[in-house]
Amino acid sequence: KTALVWFRRDLRLFDHAALHHALNNAANNGQKVICVFIFDSTILAHLPKKDRRVAFIWHSLVQLKTALQEHGSDLVVRHGDPVELIPQLAQEFSAAAIYTNHDIEPAAIKRDASVEQKLNQQGQQFHHFKDQVIFEKDQILTQTGQMYQVFTPYKRAWLAKLQDSDLQSYPVQPHLHQLATIPAQRMPSMSDIGFEEIDIAFLKPGMDGGEILFDDFCKRMARYHETRDFPSVKGVSYLSVHLRFGTVSIRELARTALQIGGEGAEIWLAELIWREFYQQLLWHRPDVVDHAFKPEYDALAFPNNEAHFAAWCEGRTGFPIVDAAMRQLNQTGFMHNRLRMIVASFLVKDLLIDWRWGERYFALHLNDFDLSANNGGWQWAASTGCDAQPYFRIFNPTTQSQRFDPKGDFIRRYCPELAELDNKQIHAPSLYLHPQLAYPDPIVDHATQRQAALALFKRN
Ligand code: FAD
Repeated sequence: KTALVWFRRDLRLFDHAALHHALNNAANNGQKVICVFIFDSTILAHLPKKDRRVAFIWHSLVQLKTALQEHGSDLVVRHGDPVELIPQLAQEFSAAAIYTNHDIEPAAIKRDASVEQKLNQQGQQFHHFKDQVIFEKDQILTQTGQMYQVFTPYKRAWLAKLQDSDLQSYPVQPHLHQLATIPAQRMPSMSDIGFEEIDIAFLKPGMDGGEILFDDFCKRMARYHETRDFPSVKGVSYLSVHLRFGTVSIRELARTALQIGGEGAEIWLAELIWREFYQQLLWHRPDVVDHAFKPEYDALAFPNNEAHFAAWCEGRTGFPIVDAAMRQLNQTGFMHNRLRMIVASFLVKDLLIDWRWGERYFALHLNDFDLSANNGGWQWAASTGCDAQPYFRIFNPTTQSQRFDPKGDFIRRYCPELAELDNKQIHAPSLYLHPQLAYPDPIVDHATQRQAALALFKRN
């Protein structure tokens, strides 16, 4: 008999809850452990054929496979519907049990329930573990047993609950000899799974990439609180895609932040706690996937001008900071947090477009797309969410630009047609006469749209 470990958003061979438990149990009952990954055809079917996330996963799997081979085993990679394939693989490898880590997205919960049912019908067990967060589901509740709806008290309760044991790794090294020796497994190519190969080396995929980025960030963590709001500065960690696919360990990250200590590390840890805040929110309120968290804002009468939406997507709104940010997203799949807040606020409150349109666009293009964080971020900016920006606080894109990109360095990087403008004019070129400039005039007037947004929200 064997045990299978089904990898999903945990593509690493260290500090891994499901693998740790599978190996430990195997050591006790003489089983061998086989690692599997399924390219889920139901998810892949909705993606463009050039997709940085799929390439990131693919390269991370190659690293995982190589690491498993070094221990005399291999990674079994298949392409199809996991609801069919996992029970099939369980039969093929005579598995007594399947081990995996939690995924709290509504579709994943449904998928896992179907897999579990089939496995149980076959007489096989399905064991699942918390792995990608420190606290999940209903582990942090208010004194009256409700979910937290406000971040600051949630963070306080999170920190108060934290024990050293919550940060301990799930070691896998001691029992890696329990990995099964299996025939060499063919890894499907990108084209086998219907995708084009693209260069994502700049994203530094896999466990190696995660380690390089985290080591680099550790040297900068102490200054995080001063640098994190400026997109032209290397102030943030750039680890979100690694957190999304589990090529880093959340326990190691949180432990290190606590060891480094000081204001920078504290504020960075708070960002990791925001991640868990939105995950527990999605778990408690899966309806936020299509609905406003605050029901009174679910049916705001957004005019949804399609031409304006296209201009926003393509980075030609005539607002340089918005356009530079959208071009960064389109060209690299990354966007700095400050810019995500600016462009999201701009879409909803300057263009009066439903936040769900923007959320969908981000979901398609962000390397680090994560349903809970993306939905949380959009509903925050749109004022429809849990602990959101009040609707009457509306970012002025030009002032934001002057404050967070004071010399226009970020704008110059992504809007080269504005590169020659001085540090003052670059934030609002239309206010100055530039007959030769190949850059659009603003598609809306901020002051007018601000009033329209206030009226739209007040009608509710
Ligand atoms: P750092 O500043 O180094 O932060 C460290 C980690 O903390 C991040 O990697 C991330 O995992 C977590 N984190 C930071 N801020 C937040 C936050 N506000 N909410 C939840 N987690 C956070 N983040 C995603 O990971 N995926 C998304 O799809 C996503 N969509 C967003 C959409 C909008 C409209 C907004 C305003 C924010 C969104 N964020 C999302 C949160 C945030 O912008 C990114 O996590 C961050 O910019 C990633 O860069 P970093 O790894 O350098 O972050």
